Amino acid sequence: MVGAGVFGAWTAHHLKRQGKKVLLVDAYGPGNSRASSGGESRVIRMGYGADEIYTRWAMRALGMWQDFFDRIGQPLFHRTGFLWLARERSPQDEATQSVFEMLGVPFERLSRAELEKRYPQINFGPVGWGLLEPESGVLMARRAAQAVVRDAVKLGVEFASEAVSTPKGRGRLVALRTESGGTLSAEKFAFACGPWLPKVFPELLRDRIFPTRQEVFFFGVPAGDQRFAPPHLPGWFDRGEEFYGIPDLESRGFKAACDRHGAPFDPDTGERVVTAEGLEETRQFVARRFPALKDAPLLEARVCQYENTSNGDFLIDRHPEFENVWVVGGGSGHGFKHGPVVGEYLAARIIEGGAVEPRFLLEAKSKTKSRAVY
Ligand SMILES: Cc1cc2nc3c(=O)[nH]c(=O)nc-3n(C[C@H](O)[C@H](O)[C@H](O)COP(=O)(O)OP(=O)(O)OC[C@H]3O[C@@H](n4cnc5c(N)ncnc54)[C@H](O)[C@@H]3O)c2cc1C
Repeated sequence: MVGAGVFGAWTAHHLKRQGKKVLLVDAYGPGNSRASSGGESRVIRMGYGADEIYTRWAMRALGMWQDFFDRIGQPLFHRTGFLWLARERSPQDEATQSVFEMLGVPFERLSRAELEKRYPQINFGPVGWGLLEPESGVLMARRAAQAVVRDAVKLGVEFASEAVSTPKGRGRLVALRTESGGTLSAEKFAFACGPWLPKVFPELLRDRIFPTRQEVFFFGVPAGDQRFAPPHLPGWFDRGEEFYGIPDLESRGFKAACDRHGAPFDPDTGERVVTAEGLEETRQFVARRFPALKDAPLLEARVCQYENTSNGDFLIDRHPEFENVWVVGGGSGHGFKHGPVVGEYLAARIIEGGAVEPRFLLEAKSKTKSRAVY
């Protein structure tokens, strides 16, 4: 298994639990600062518009994360709730509500007046109504991914710090070469290299996975003010403005970020310094929607990267030139929450074979960008 981000870590974990011998390697370490899984926190919410498959997966994943954290005794999930801020006419949010009704996801539809009463710290501007997922919340991402690797190692997965080179040839892959000059042999291989996938497989994925630079900001809340922490504020997404945020968790600050795709980004060499323009745009949004944070100081900022497929669907497929090589990734800014289910799904395909859901296949990955899954 190459890559110990959330997808690789969970796949290794599931494979081991099925009794397989597993070697997990990572070039920079589990949940490292360059990895997409290396951020402080990630939202786990059920809403996916009409894309029911991701709602089903998120429902299953939430239970699996909770069971895992209970078992290891680490509270790395915060049930903050998650609030969709919808414009008056919002087909995507209406579709989310229909899927929730069909699948039995707990939710509350809140009118503008109810929103204002419940969240007086928000200035709703053009927001028409809201959809609250009370059971959803936030995963402490870096620590959660690292905990999965630690637990996998406890179960018997072997971990090695190695950077793997692009496999050469075709047919049956026998061994991988590492940058340190060694070789790693296995019966089957899986690459969960996140935003590095187009570098590991340039010919195959250069035009199918597009890593983009994303800026994240943590603002300081006023002293003694609980309005921006749970239970007073849930995670939220303002669809009209394409901004999302996470309340002040573990006193790290109020997190806000723009969800629009940024510039192309190289996860190895990219400098992780935010831009003055990005900070200014985020500050202006925060001042508009959360007036009490108008002058909030910036406490921390991060540059991470999304690894986008053309439309946001995951990639889970065999490498077309190697019969025993799998490729998984394309988390596209929404993959973290699904880690346990992606790992379960891939481990089952690796062990038992069987058809892969068509929308995850390589052939479904267009070279033309048209974002559809959020
Ligand atoms: C700012 C931001 C906000 C996000 N918000 C959310 C959210 O709220 N909710 C959500 O569900 N998702 C969110 N996501 C998306 C989510 O974080 C990613 O989809 C997910 O973490 C991807 O995991 P991964 O395992 O595919 O990749 P990664 O975590 O990047 O892991 C890949 C690993 O492969 C290793 N690797 C790469 N190349 C090699 C090699 N040649 N040899 C050995 N090792 C190698 C790397 O070192 C790395 O550790 C967000 C992402 C970002 C950037």
